[in-house]
Amino acid sequence: MMGPRQEAQAALFYDFCLEDHVPQDHMLRSIDRFVDLSDIRQHLVPFYSSTGRPSIDPELMIRILLVGYCMGIRSERRLCDEVHLNLAYRWFCRLDLGDCVPDHSTFSKNRHGRFRDSDLLRHVFETVVARCIAEGLASGQCLAVDASLIEADTNRLNSTSKEEWRPDNIDPEGAPRAVREYLDTLDDAAFGAATPVQPKFTSHSDPASQWTAARKGPAYFAYSANYMIDTDHAVILDVEASRSVRQAELGAMQTMIDRTKDTFDINPERMIADTAYGTGPLLEWLVQERGIAPHIPVIDKSGRKDGIFERADFTYDDENDLYVCPGGKELRQSRRAFTKPRPDGPHKDGILRYRTRKADCDGCQLKPRCCPKEPTRKVTRSIHEPSRDVARKIYLTIDYAISCKLRKKVEMLFAHLKRILGLGRLRLRGPCGAKDEFHLAATTQNLRKLAKLIPTPSPTA
Ligand code: SF4
Repeated sequence: MMGPRQEAQAALFYDFCLEDHVPQDHMLRSIDRFVDLSDIRQHLVPFYSSTGRPSIDPELMIRILLVGYCMGIRSERRLCDEVHLNLAYRWFCRLDLGDCVPDHSTFSKNRHGRFRDSDLLRHVFETVVARCIAEGLASGQCLAVDASLIEADTNRLNSTSKEEWRPDNIDPEGAPRAVREYLDTLDDAAFGAATPVQPKFTSHSDPASQWTAARKGPAYFAYSANYMIDTDHAVILDVEASRSVRQAELGAMQTMIDRTKDTFDINPERMIADTAYGTGPLLEWLVQERGIAPHIPVIDKSGRKDGIFERADFTYDDENDLYVCPGGKELRQSRRAFTKPRPDGPHKDGILRYRTRKADCDGCQLKPRCCPKEPTRKVTRSIHEPSRDVARKIYLTIDYAISCKLRKKVEMLFAHLKRILGLGRLRLRGPCGAKDEFHLAATTQNLRKLAKLIPTPSPTA
């Protein structure tokens, strides 16, 4: 039998409980247990006026932003519409059915104002990391670092070549916000001062972004998201935005290590990273200054493929500071007896150079395989070689093989960031925009991790 036609009929009174309509296994319900924003009002007190119209509750705005990043809703305009319509989103934001959702423009106003002035998103991120540590998800003993390119919100055609780019001619007064941020960060080691090399092109709308072809495809403008994770459960301990150049990413790693120590008193035993981080100065900093074992492949260009002896064929005598060649002869930095002794020291580039005597090589049968076109053989050695040797020794251990597998965890987080959270391209411009987006995304990833690893207590328990 066909039932009666369904027609909407407004009821005079509703008996409706939002709580009953959010499924017990809904993701927002599971992460809600770990969202503690109780202290952000206190954190923001100095940034609100004591007079005037009451503001939108900052906790509400943060909750709405978390919904957006959790559910991959990038547009704030659409996010507000979704929160208006979706019962679970309303429940998470503590909005009842009749409560109004803030206008989307409120977010940008607060983000550019008091949220940035108070570094609120960093505060929220650190609160969640502290919860992860308190729940035993991060011991801080074994950390991994990596960076991933995130495309900037720019048009690659709206740019100027380095020959024509003149930052001195920009008027900061009339420039857009992202351009003003670019001017402000020109001396920042994570952005303008990361390298003296000028990028091939500079974007007009977001000049701090880096023109890069690192993905081997067509070049584009990007920022780097730098993550430092604890490998126990892939909790993100720190996040940093930087230019997409290696120098900036190495600096970001140092910043994150020091900041994590200051904030959470974490002193890692092991740092895992890929070859990009295997430079001499960084290995030196890790080994000598921070006492961290570098599970990082060393960048070494001394290998040869033409059959000529490479540096590994020469034995270094630490005691006498010399190399011994395959023919048994000594290579030294200096042999001349100066009337005024000159200290043996590195050249300006930090490279020590060791040479044989011409007389030793002249009659040597191994010369065709050693220095066929030169009268003597030269071997170079970095001033950071002791620390590089520490990394080389670790490279041969089983622990290093385990570290290679653990390193995948940070790469998986970047895949999750782009595929699930939809952060393949930034929505906000400028260094501060990139920083805000990375902090919110990392906060969300940690919240999802907490929800996944810590089961919801059963109602009967
Ligand atoms: S050529 Fe010179 S440096 Fe090379 S093996 Fe012979 S003696 Fe040693």
